[in-house]
This record gives sequence, structure tokens and C-alpha cells, in this order.
Amino acid sequence: MGDRIRVGVVGAGGRMGKEVVKMVLQDDALELVAAVDHSAGEVDAGSLVGVETTGIIVTSQLEEALLSTKPDVIVDFTTPSSVMKNTVTAIQHGVRPVVGTTGLSTEEIDDIRTLCKDKGIGAIIAPNFSIGAFLMMQFAKQAAKYLPNVEIIEYHGDQKLDAPSGTAVKTAELISEVREERRQGNPNEEEKIEGARGGYYNGFRIHSVRLPGIFAQQEVIFGGHGESLKIRHDSYERAGYMPGVNLAVKKVMELHELVYGFEHLMD
Ligand code: NAD
Repeated sequence: MGDRIRVGVVGAGGRMGKEVVKMVLQDDALELVAAVDHSAGEVDAGSLVGVETTGIIVTSQLEEALLSTKPDVIVDFTTPSSVMKNTVTAIQHGVRPVVGTTGLSTEEIDDIRTLCKDKGIGAIIAPNFSIGAFLMMQFAKQAAKYLPNVEIIEYHGDQKLDAPSGTAVKTAELISEVREERRQGNPNEEEKIEGARGGYYNGFRIHSVRLPGIFAQQEVIFGGHGESLKIRHDSYERAGYMPGVNLAVKKVMELHELVYGFEHLMD
């Protein structure tokens, strides 16, 4: 069993983190060696996720856990305010980060890229690990070439911290790669209520809906001459992200630099 990938889960007590712990425990190619969370208490990682005990006790000390358990990879699903520090700490200890936490700025992602290069270590940051969302983004990028008038509407639960969502930002970036930058809509338009037209990104708009009861959805709407096209993705549960996270944990072992975006893992 010596060649199993040693995995630490950061944010193990959170909604995504618990799914990651379960996924790691279910895959014989992976070995859970650490579970880190600030708010879960010192409980067994297995009990935390409702399966049999594992002997891995959840800790709040990431650095200590890295030193004592020597993971190959950490998977981070924490918060926008802690993900940068966790990621930098992991890289400095030679541990490859797989980051699902959203809210990292472009500058922070660039800093992580530089750090990975300096250390010759692989990392993956993916705002969305779902295969359906990957396809939605690819189709949107394809459509933007022919229908450059576009708006994005993303829907998430009301407790989400960052807006727009990481997926919306990533979609906007992909669209911008093929869409000539230009401000669309009426140049004389006037917002009667601040923010009514949504966030401005490279000439088009992103709208963030936050309501209880909603999990994660996104629509990319294109307008043309006498027609429109709507590309929509709906996520129903967190387990749906796990095949993507599993793939990333395995792929990051082969990398020596940062890969940003799940699309780069899909052949
Ligand atoms: P959550 O609030 O349920 O869980 C976050 C957990 O992180 C909490 O248990 C908290 O105690 C813990 N935490 C916070 N700071 C920490 C630190 N410094 N060290 C260790 N643990 C820490 O949130 P969630 O719904 O699981 O979402 C987590 C993140 O994942 C969010 O940014 C969300 O947008 C993102 N997300 C990404 C994807 C994707 O596919 N990439 C999918 C869903 C959610």
C-alpha cells in the first residue's frame, strides 16, 4: 500500500470537506492522513462524516499536521479568507494543494503560480470541479465567438461569502479569451438602483442571486439578431463534485506547476 497518495483534507468539517473525506476513504488508491478544521473539534474524521472510525483525529493546526503526517496532497475547501494562507503553507512544506475554495484574486493566483514555479511543485485551483459545469463553460466559450452579446446569471445559497461565484468569474475569463472586448448595451443606460445591471466584466455583466434553498446554478445568456441562446447548468448535491476532486488529487501528483481551471485536467 506504500504507493497510495497521502491526502490531507483542510476544511474537513465543512459541507464540501466532509464529502472529500468520504471520497478519500472510499478510494483504495488514496489514504487519508490528516483532517484539518477550525470548528469541528477533536473528533475522529470517520465519525465526523458518519462512517466507521479512522484513527485520524481532526486538528485545527495545519502546519503541525503537515509536519507530522507528511501528506502528498492537501485538498482545501475552506473560506476565501483562509485559503491563501493554507495554500502557501502547503507549498512551503512541499505539499501539493488541490484548491476548491473560491474567492482567490487574480493576484493571489499569480503569487501561487510563482511560488509553485520556485518550488517546482504542482498545484490545482479549480473554482468548479463538476463535469457538467466544465461543459457549460466550454459551450459558453464556443458560443461567445459567434454571439458576443452575453450576460451571466449565477444562483447560489444565501450563505455564500463571495460574489460573483468562482465559476462565473472563470466563465467570464473563458468568454473573454474569444470575445473582442467591447462594452455592450446602450451607452446611455442609467441605473436607477445601484447594481441593477450587475457586475461589469470586460464589457459584459454578471449577476449574482443569493437565496436560501438554492444550491448552485448558472445561466449564460447570449443575445443575437432575433434570437437568444441560454446555456444552463444545475448542481443538485456536493457529491457531484467528487469525481472531479478525485481526478485532481491524482493529476496533481504529475504536475510541477500551477494548473488553474478544471478544464485543463479534462482531455
Ligand atoms: P463550509 O462553510 O461548509 O465549510 C468550510 C469549512 O472550512 C468550515 O468547516 C470551517 O470551519 C473550515 N475552515 C475555515 N477556515 C479554516 C482554516 N483556516 N483551516 C481549516 N479549516 C478552516 O463551506 P463549503 O460549502 O464546504 O464551501 C467551501 C468552499 O468551497 C467555498 O469557497 C465554496 O465556494 C467552495 N466550493 C467550491 C466548489 C468547487 O467545485 N470548486 C464546489 C462547492 C463549493
